[in-house]
Amino acid sequence: MAFSLHEKNDTIVALATPQGVGAIGVIRLSGIDAIRICNKIFKGKDLEKQESHTIHFGTIRDGEKVIDEVLVSLFIAPKSFTKENAVEISTHGSSYIVNQVIKLLIRQGARPAKPGEFTQRAFLNGQFDLAQAEAVADLIHADSEASHQAALSQMRGGFSGEIQKLRNELIHFASMIELELDFTEEDVEFASRDDLKVLVEKLLRVIEQLIGSFDLGNVIKNGVPTVIAGKPNAGKSTLLNALLNEEKAIVSDIAGTTRDFIEDEINIGGVIFRFIDTAGLRETTDTIEAIGVSRTQEKMKTASLILYLFDLGDTDMVEISRDINKLENLGVPFLKVANKIDKADLEFVGELKSKHPDTIFISAGNKENLDDLKSRILELVNLDKFKTGNTIVTNIRHYDSLVKTRESLLDVLGGIDQEITNDFLAMDIRRSLHYLGEITGEITTDDLLANIFSKFCIGK
Ligand code: GDP
Repeated sequence: MAFSLHEKNDTIVALATPQGVGAIGVIRLSGIDAIRICNKIFKGKDLEKQESHTIHFGTIRDGEKVIDEVLVSLFIAPKSFTKENAVEISTHGSSYIVNQVIKLLIRQGARPAKPGEFTQRAFLNGQFDLAQAEAVADLIHADSEASHQAALSQMRGGFSGEIQKLRNELIHFASMIELELDFTEEDVEFASRDDLKVLVEKLLRVIEQLIGSFDLGNVIKNGVPTVIAGKPNAGKSTLLNALLNEEKAIVSDIAGTTRDFIEDEINIGGVIFRFIDTAGLRETTDTIEAIGVSRTQEKMKTASLILYLFDLGDTDMVEISRDINKLENLGVPFLKVANKIDKADLEFVGELKSKHPDTIFISAGNKENLDDLKSRILELVNLDKFKTGNTIVTNIRHYDSLVKTRESLLDVLGGIDQEITNDFLAMDIRRSLHYLGEITGEITTDDLLANIFSKFCIGK
């Protein structure tokens, strides 16, 4: 028998595949009446008498008029994504058909789903925790292998498991200390302050590591912010275009696919690099000469990687050493890239090789040695941390909660040292627990949920 695990008993409907013409369109229904509503417009077998996880061929009808021949997949609660009764109708992919079918379903009692509502229901019905639900959104938007991996491992609960374990240990201490509050007269100590201190310090180490992983996580999700710096005419725009054109070529080589090409982003070895200030680049602003200017410096500091590009025919050793010195002081990882090898003076190249053996020699104009440049770029960003399967925080909301957890844990630590009273200590621990719970969704507010799920698309 159909049932719903939460108080919202209505049935929602939305197109799950992208809008527009496609080979098929999948319309999704979820809710207590999903199967009954679909059955009213479906001609074929009686859907209400079928087993879960079965597929049925038939027609969708508006009265006597046949709208389409379809396949209907049935999922009976709780064995579905939302843990509610769910139906997926695969129609032919014209927007006319899809709209007609959705209209019919609404007429029979379904209501249009809000953005992310399917995932929200899955979360509310305990399919997964909040961090995992957010990973669903990340997974949909993942456009590189690295971001896909990070989202997938989070969705499978890697990140949440770690948080959950720590939180449970802390809950234990909180309850012990609260128990002590009931025995204030007796002056007993259920929770050893030394043990608590050890736990909090352990927690802080893990939290620090997670906080530290955010930079990497952010890079995986949004791309490595990269700047090409160099004098006017060094070949910066030529290099950028050469890299971007290769990417464009690869993208359009995949026959029959159309993908929005993102200007100024390239995918190297599964990692997205996002070139910043490329507009300025095209105006050939003098980035390196202006390194001393604070505005330029700020911009370069926001980069995770700088390609220092110089024209072999137009830069002397003193200038190169001076620029490299400035970049070293900036503290952002950078590569020394010598351009226009096609017309370079061999003696100068030799001198440069002995002085700066890590220089990469390219010709942006002739697309020479760009593969070497790319592998050196990959080496420099070093995503090994990610590859070892360590937990990575990619979500700004989690990051926020982790930073707040750290603050309150430091308060707990300070409190132990200053021997503050138990009620204050318990308060600080509760606060830490609260922020940790915010990540996994044990602590939620309607605003928070609305905010998270509104970022999903309709039908997800
Ligand atoms: P930017 O000011 O740093 O953006 O430099 P541009 O990309 O506009 O390049 C300046 C000039 O150098 C242009 O005329 C390019 O065609 C030329 N150029 C760029 N790369 C090469 C190269 O590898 N070899 C040669 N010979 N010329 C190049």
